[in-house]
Amino acid sequence: MRRKLVAGNWKMHGSLAANQALLREVIPAVAALDCEVAVCVPFPYLAQARAMLEATPIAWGAQTVSEHGQGAYTGEVSAAMLLDFACRYVIVGHSERRSLYGESDAVVAAKFVAAVKAGLTPILCVGETLAEREAGVTEAVVARQLQAVIGAAGAAALGRAVVAYEPVWAIGTGRTATPQQAQEVHAFIRSLVAGHDTAVARSLRILYGGSVKPQNAAELFAMADIDGGLIGGASLVAADFAAICGAA
Ligand code: PEP
Repeated sequence: MRRKLVAGNWKMHGSLAANQALLREVIPAVAALDCEVAVCVPFPYLAQARAMLEATPIAWGAQTVSEHGQGAYTGEVSAAMLLDFACRYVIVGHSERRSLYGESDAVVAAKFVAAVKAGLTPILCVGETLAEREAGVTEAVVARQLQAVIGAAGAAALGRAVVAYEPVWAIGTGRTATPQQAQEVHAFIRSLVAGHDTAVARSLRILYGGSVKPQNAAELFAMADIDGGLIGGASLVAADFAAICGAA
């Protein structure tokens, strides 16, 4: 039985005061739930997240990581630095990183490798654009994104990771994949991984992300291959995030 995971992606939102207010509400609201909860916060707030969450069951992490260990990479943050703040998770290959910052499949794969090597759990995001879905190449796109990581890290490394299926057309748009649409891609992802390693495929947690709200979370999380969610906008509203966690 795969334990559900609900991870918040705060994106570039927050302030010390706003984060404190948000977490003060979220912590008690999710304390008794039987699912894993995590928040992926902007780098400057990792120390705050750690201080507020280390005595709670909520995990914390970052939203990207450098593929490099150290050196002349101005502005970058290494996996070892994230471990200094006791991060468990790091999002890798979010569609905003791919589209706005030009992260190729190869770069995403290198980041994944850096995260796993350091002992972080990457949340690897994959997903197609609207044009790709309409062109009928959703599975080909997701397969290409996954194979890049499997090629670089090996399928066994997915056993120390989480995959998030995030159709680009559903992120921050208010347009959610139907549970059936999401389930189809999740099942495809699991079967692709099973082609490499059946044990890893069986235990792999595959999250759905893209306009998950309290109103649609339960029906998404009820699908056989949906093991939780990666939550953007709704993770910034304590009551909504707690309700989504409750649905898991
Ligand atoms: C995300 O940022 O990964 C995301 C899924 O955003 P939203 O929930 O706002 O669509």
